[in-house]
Amino acid sequence: MQPTAHIWQNGQFVPWQEANTHVLSHGLHYGSGVFEGIRCYETPQGSAIFKLAAHVARLVYSANALGMQLPYSEAELCQAITDTVAKNRLQAGYIRPLAYYGYGALGVMPSKELPIEVVIACWPWADYLEAPAVDIKISDFIRIHPQSSVADAKICGHYVNSLLARTALRDTHYHEALLLDHDGFVAEGSAENIFIVREGHLITTPLGTILPGITRATVMEMAANRGYAVSEERFTPAAVLAADEAFFCGTAVEIVPIRSLDDQLIGNGEPGLISQQLQQAYQAIVHDKDADFMDALTRVNFVAGV
Ligand code: PMP
Repeated sequence: MQPTAHIWQNGQFVPWQEANTHVLSHGLHYGSGVFEGIRCYETPQGSAIFKLAAHVARLVYSANALGMQLPYSEAELCQAITDTVAKNRLQAGYIRPLAYYGYGALGVMPSKELPIEVVIACWPWADYLEAPAVDIKISDFIRIHPQSSVADAKICGHYVNSLLARTALRDTHYHEALLLDHDGFVAEGSAENIFIVREGHLITTPLGTILPGITRATVMEMAANRGYAVSEERFTPAAVLAADEAFFCGTAVEIVPIRSLDDQLIGNGEPGLISQQLQQAYQAIVHDKDADFMDALTRVNFVAGV
């Protein structure tokens, strides 16, 4: 990670190295925090944040799922995120807002007096999966059961599930894990949603066991705009193998074709035409080259930056 100069912490900018917290913070012990992963991109008009409002709305949804009342409105959070990018003069990179229960009583149930800490950091970050097409493996860990948590909230503690799935592949040739749901259907990657393509028809996991990805929603819109049928329905690992194409999508990974699942090639193992078309379309959108998606970008004004 390449540090930037400033982190926004509870309403103030502090130097990157000084953005610290107490070791007895509740969030550190119980995973009682919520976060977002957002990207900003270089565009002809300068740096712009993609789908900022949707990310902030999901952050608030996640906080509500934990019963956490954020001390800032959605508008204030959007402004703080834009200010953080401006303050750091970040042309392109990743933005991480995080809210967590802070230092105070340490019982499992967060005491009403616990402070709610909110931080926003950003830094340059290019490729997440470091391969133009990825080899993936079905994880032995299943995705969080929807009755075990509020599965569609982006809660810090949920990421132990992702981390275990991902860590099991350390030092192997696999780039990413594919997690199934409790019924054996495909759920998602450790930090990505998945699409398969069969005869020009896109299929993605329905909501329920997955994070409702903002990139997933963008892909559905882009595909529909191009006249492709898109459906949200459960599918098996066998359907992934029988597909013509498959790809992951997410803020960090953007859109990346899946080359193989459990060492069996998908299609001929080359990135599929529809996957590539959507990849290009996505890059055009985030770099402000698609007028239909202009509203999805929040421009950051460095000159007016704080
Ligand atoms: N699933 C999980 C588990 C994730 O962590 C992410 C990344 N936020 C996604 C899917 C993709 O979501 P998005 O497109 O909103 O980044």
